[in-house]
Amino acid sequence: MILKMPALLLSASCHLSRLFSQSRFVSFSTRLIKMDLVVDIADRYFFTKYNIYPGDWSEDYWLRQCFSSAILCYIGGTTIYLTVSPLVFWFIFDHRLMKHPLFLKNQIRREMWMSLTAGIFLCLLTSVVLLLELRGYSKLYSMDEIDVTVYEAIVLVIRDSVGLILFSDCLIYWIHRFLHHRYIYRHLHKQHHKWKIPTPFASIAFHPFDGFLQSVPYHIYPCIFPTNRHAYLVLFFLVIVWTISIHDGDYRVPTVLRPFINGSAHHTDHHLFYNYNYGQYFTFWDRIAGSYRSPSVYEGVSLVDAVNKKATKVIDEGECNGYVGKAHEG
Ligand SMILES: [Zn+2]
Ligand SMILES: [Zn+2]
Repeated sequence: MILKMPALLLSASCHLSRLFSQSRFVSFSTRLIKMDLVVDIADRYFFTKYNIYPGDWSEDYWLRQCFSSAILCYIGGTTIYLTVSPLVFWFIFDHRLMKHPLFLKNQIRREMWMSLTAGIFLCLLTSVVLLLELRGYSKLYSMDEIDVTVYEAIVLVIRDSVGLILFSDCLIYWIHRFLHHRYIYRHLHKQHHKWKIPTPFASIAFHPFDGFLQSVPYHIYPCIFPTNRHAYLVLFFLVIVWTISIHDGDYRVPTVLRPFINGSAHHTDHHLFYNYNYGQYFTFWDRIAGSYRSPSVYEGVSLVDAVNKKATKVIDEGECNGYVGKAHEG
């Protein structure tokens, strides 16, 4: 068995190098001029079937592709938002937080209004990037376009998913930090920080350009690295669910994962104290770049205590406004 190990290792390394080789993707990535999966289905069953566009707008006309991708982006995003956010709000969000002194009047209605109106402009901006993907300027691929075994397909999906998450986690950290720059903040990102005590409905309540900048890493990744088309679509859904979850006011994370995961507890403190916990999924970049703050709730300071006015150490409006002033000066 021991004698067989080098041969097995050699075989495994050859197998993996073949699997991770970029060359096998170049041949088909350049010929992905065909319509994208979702737009293709939408054309077949809706846009073309019901003659939504002028007759001389063919399915591969760039303006039609732009509109189609903007419409599908908006329908997909808002469907997930309007389905998942209410569920999280009713079953997970701590409704006592709505009595917090920093909870705004009609806040949920305002969060939804901002999300649904800004989403239109966000999707129009995003459609330009999606157009590049549609017209073959990405390395998106489907498993039926390459010759792989089931084992290889599983490894590829894991590779693409982990790669996309780590890549976007890094870029979103720095983009988010850039959005907090004193000259940028008031024009773009301030709108999202209007919600000091965010609810799940605040998850995509951004200025459209702010939301666009934070979504750019997800579109850059498949232009640089081969990415499985189906995994990419599933991740699109999961990313929105994650974004909703870090605004859900549920601070429970398995103790063993607490040092690593940037959860709702971290992001709630980001909404309150501004200059900490910019991360999206992990605390890694906050720790590296010196912006990590152990969440107040982990330190025994509860937002609900501020509601009940029972705690000796609460985050009150005065303290929070102190940080607001600091962020604006800083
Ligand atoms: Zn937020
Ligand atoms: Zn922020």
